[in-house]
Formats: sequence, C-alpha cells, structure tokens
Amino acid sequence: MAINWFPGHMHKARKEIKKVMPQMDLLIEVVDARIPFSSENPLVPALRGDTPLIKVLNKRDLADPEVTAEWQAWLEKERGVRAVTLTHNQRAEALDILRLAGEMTPSHDRQKSALRVMILGIPNVGKSTLINTLAGRPAAKTGNEPAVTRAQQVIKLPDNILLYDTPGFLWPKLSPEACGYRLAVSGAIRSAVIDFEDVALFAADYLLQAYPDAVMERYQLDQRPRDGLALMDAIAEKRRFFSRGGIPDLHKVAEVLLTELRAGKLGRISLETPAMIEEETRAYEAA
Ligand code: GDP
Repeated sequence: MAINWFPGHMHKARKEIKKVMPQMDLLIEVVDARIPFSSENPLVPALRGDTPLIKVLNKRDLADPEVTAEWQAWLEKERGVRAVTLTHNQRAEALDILRLAGEMTPSHDRQKSALRVMILGIPNVGKSTLINTLAGRPAAKTGNEPAVTRAQQVIKLPDNILLYDTPGFLWPKLSPEACGYRLAVSGAIRSAVIDFEDVALFAADYLLQAYPDAVMERYQLDQRPRDGLALMDAIAEKRRFFSRGGIPDLHKVAEVLLTELRAGKLGRISLETPAMIEEETRAYEAA
C-alpha cells in the first residue's frame, strides 16, 4: 500500500516541533479512541524527552467503551503516560485535562511564568475541536480536511496557561500495514489515497470477526457471512445495490459501509485492541 505523505511537509513539521518542544512544560497528544495506536504520531515519542505527556483518547462516543478502557490501562502501564478519554462538547471534562496538566507539573510556578502546553496529533483526530472547547470560542479552524498546513497558534487561557497548537501537520504511523488500513477506515486518511473497496473489505473482515452481531443487526442478515467479501455481497443483496447485469455494486457497498461505520450507525466500534497491536508488532519486527 503506497501512501504519499509529502516529505517536505514532514521535514518542516519535524524541524518546527524540535524547535518548540523544549520550551513546553507539558504535551497533550490527541488520538482517535477507535485507533489509539495507529493514530499516534511517531515524532512525539522520538522528540518528547522528559516532557510530561497526556494522551487524550478523543471521539470516545464512536469507540467501544470496554476496549477504550483497555487502551487507557495499556497506555499507562506500557508507555508510562496519563491517558484520558474525551468526546466533543464536554467542556468540564476538557478543563479537567488542564487541571491534570497542573498536577503533572508540580514544580511549575504559574505566578512566575505561564504553563506552556502544546496540543499535538495527526490530522482529523479533533485537536481544533478541543482547542475551541478549552478556549470557549472558535479559536482554531475545525473541519474534515486532513493534511492542511497551518501556522502555529498560541491561545491564552485562564490560570496563566498558554496553549500551543500543533506546528505544521503531523503524519500517522503507516506500518505495520494494518495501521494504514485502520486509519483509512476511521476516515483519517483520505479515501482517494487507498483503494476504497480494499478499505471496506478490510473493515468488513474485521467487523465480522470482532463485532459480528452489530453487522448482522445493522444489515438484517440471518446468516453469518463466511468472510468480508461475502458480507459485502450480502449487503449488496439486502440494500439492492446492483450494477447493470445484476452484479453486486461493491463500490456502493463500500461507500455505505464505511460511511455508516464512521458515523457510528453500527454502534460503538473500536478498530484495534492492545492485544492485536502487540501481536502485529511482534510479527512486524520478526519479519
Ligand atoms: P483536527 O484536524 O485534529 O484539528 O480535527 P478537528 O477538530 O477539525 O475535527 C475533525 C472532525 O472530527 C470534525 O468533523 C469534528 O467535528 C469531528 N470530531 C471532533 N471531536 C469529535 C468527537 O469527540 N466525536 C466525534 N464523533 N467527532 C468529533
């Protein structure tokens, strides 16, 4: 699977982050709760040093609560970071993150200098939404437009906190290969980059294995399809998506399946678990 992330942008973002990181008292990395591993940015662990880090598992409303709890425990145990969950429009909870930031920087005297907090994350995980929630006003541009370059913003918050937006844009981890697919399923990577039907097939296989009841209920299937392709065929049948000549229109099925999954129509679904990631990482490193 080839994904072209612009090397020029990557280089620029790395340089900018390297420059500003040492001035930060604390980092907040926003990830997608459905894919807390695949939506990490590889630069954060590489450049963080000793700066305290809070991971925000955002879009919790879309993720499986049990799996999200597993991720929180895993991140705290395996990575030694604080992991909290969040969903949009929860100002009190968002402000709790700032309180936690204060607790994690006990030697910092805010009477003397501002607490500098940087929000990091790959495109589309909800950074701007969080910044706006914290600011209590539209301070950052939000939208479904991954990979837009932008200048770094600094927002002044009460209690002498300065909030720094991600400088430039950060790219996700694209290996092991399944990470790239899961990013595509979540909507973080533009569908134009990876073949749409391939992404849907990946999602269909996974859903059948991890959430068979949710798919069967959504598409009113009586029998469990044997694999992802059979599931896509069954959806075509149920929804009457046929091309000329009566062939199942898999492109249409792919579009509907991915759109409905991303919109939470199949329920709260996580796309990866710590156990899956540990196994994939072992296989990837052994290869
Ligand atoms: P950024 O690129 O990281 O700054 O992400 P944005 O803040 O622009 O958000 C990307 C998309 O995700 C927007 O369509 C938001 O409305 C949506 N979004 C942000 N937070 C949440 C959340 O908690 N739940 C859901 N379902 N969508 C969210």
